[in-house]
Amino acid sequence: MEERDKIEKIEGQQCPICKQNTLILTQIERDIPFFGRILLMSMSCKNCLYHAADVEILDRKEPARYEIVIEKPEDLNILVVRSSAGRILLKRIGSIEPGINNNGFITTIEGVINRIKRSIEQLLPDLDGEKEKKARMLIKKINRILSGWDKAVLVIEDPTGNSAIISEKAKKTSLKKKS
Ligand SMILES: [Zn+2]
Repeated sequence: MEERDKIEKIEGQQCPICKQNTLILTQIERDIPFFGRILLMSMSCKNCLYHAADVEILDRKEPARYEIVIEKPEDLNILVVRSSAGRILLKRIGSIEPGINNNGFITTIEGVINRIKRSIEQLLPDLDGEKEKKARMLIKKINRILSGWDKAVLVIEDPTGNSAIISEKAKKTSLKKKS
């Protein structure tokens, strides 16, 4: 949590899963320099440990597609805001698809790549033969990108306009609003 954060917490709400009044709602408003305000929302249940989170961009929100070439180690520190409606694509490696079970997050490009890496690693025990070989190759490629040896292209698309790559280097184009 950062100094500039405005935090609001509501305890004792009813949990949608276990129906106990043990849910904590948290809203954090964060001001990101040169970008604008972001709202982070989360629900956590103390009883059944249910957890969900999402983000919303409060300023200059428009359906958009961002694309960035990751070409030097510093690029891994660029911030990415991804709402539950955002689709992330690391070209020729993998993706993070939108969906109701997908939490929104704010992280760095390195954090995004690590999430994709973890999702491939989780599949490994169930794979064999060519599929296992391919997955191991993808993990090697990811490690090369994280080490700064290989370039990569990261794309994020969000029809709700609540996702962004926060860098002047990112190419932004408009995207049609979901009707
Ligand atoms: Zn619960």
